[in-house]
Amino acid sequence: MKKVSATLTDSFGREHNYLRISLTEKCNLRCTYCMPENGVLLSPQSQLMTANEVFHIAALFVQNGVDKIRLTGGEPLLRKDFSEILTSLSTLPVKLSITTNAILVDRYIETFKSCGLKDINVSLDTLNTTKFDAITKRDQFSKAMSNIELLIQEGFMVKLNVVLMKGFNDDEIIDFINYTRDKPINVRFIEFMPFDGNNWDKSKLVTFDEVLTAVNVHYAEVGVESIPNEKNFTARNYKIKNYKGSFGIISTVTNPFCDACNRIRLTANGKLKNCLFSTGETPLLETFRDGKSIEGLIQHALHQKKAVRAGMTELEDFENLENHHNRSMITIGG
Ligand code: SAM
Ligand code: SF4
Repeated sequence: MKKVSATLTDSFGREHNYLRISLTEKCNLRCTYCMPENGVLLSPQSQLMTANEVFHIAALFVQNGVDKIRLTGGEPLLRKDFSEILTSLSTLPVKLSITTNAILVDRYIETFKSCGLKDINVSLDTLNTTKFDAITKRDQFSKAMSNIELLIQEGFMVKLNVVLMKGFNDDEIIDFINYTRDKPINVRFIEFMPFDGNNWDKSKLVTFDEVLTAVNVHYAEVGVESIPNEKNFTARNYKIKNYKGSFGIISTVTNPFCDACNRIRLTANGKLKNCLFSTGETPLLETFRDGKSIEGLIQHALHQKKAVRAGMTELEDFENLENHHNRSMITIGG
């Protein structure tokens, strides 16, 4: 592994070798926990990174030690120049991955393969078509499902991201785990997090403990096996004995994993976020366009990074919506 430079090392010694790049603020779905009901104010096209700028800014991060890049959004596959972006990034010595809602993936299978992209995270919050329409406000369930099946058949490493919300899909935890019986996929249950305009409310949260209790009760006789944590893990992973796939729980709210955080985020309009929950952002694009070095800005942003969730150390701080003057998730990129 390439050494991470001082530029990408924060004041707690955490080395940031994982860059998430949001390619667009737009989406073809309207997930209620992500996209505010009245939409978002989109940046003018002229303020968004071009394909060429994405490549050169990413290359600078790679020179400083980034060895993993995830493309996200909005919906990254909506970018008309997505293939161009992926092809250029594939020339860098990095592991590439993408987070997508899968609606358009059938158009990109060959591009993924030729660019060596193997890891694909797909958001899917329900296995029920009526509930899918309700949460995404779009009638695309069968397209999402057939594309997920296609990715599995084509041998991609698929992780399904399921944002759990009480009263909406907490009754599907077992159905999702049963989906891993014959499929080599990893289902990740994500605690619902507060962002601008998503009507977060503690009562909708399904916690890590609640998920694990439901699973342990249901599979008591079959057996739930714990899988050792990966380095810089976000999900605590488990599998049901003899099932092909596995499942994990991402517990940012009740059990954060900031100690080993190695992630930084670049928004589609070229701003660096040192934490998913940081209200501050560091604009890189203007300086980059002026032909000046952006490394000092990156280092400064990293040095501002707090130990835990942008300073919301305690659960009470995190649950206080007054502390969340952040962007909406659609414009951050998860
Ligand atoms: N459109 C792509 C997709 O849906 O996979 C990529 C962008 S989406 C913002 C990235 C991830 O953020 C998705 O897995 C989504 O489930 C997650 N996400 C969005 N809002 C969230 C929230 N309020 N709490 C937890 N996860 C959230
Ligand atoms: Fe779009 Fe993904 Fe947000 Fe859903 S979670 S609205 S698919 S960006």
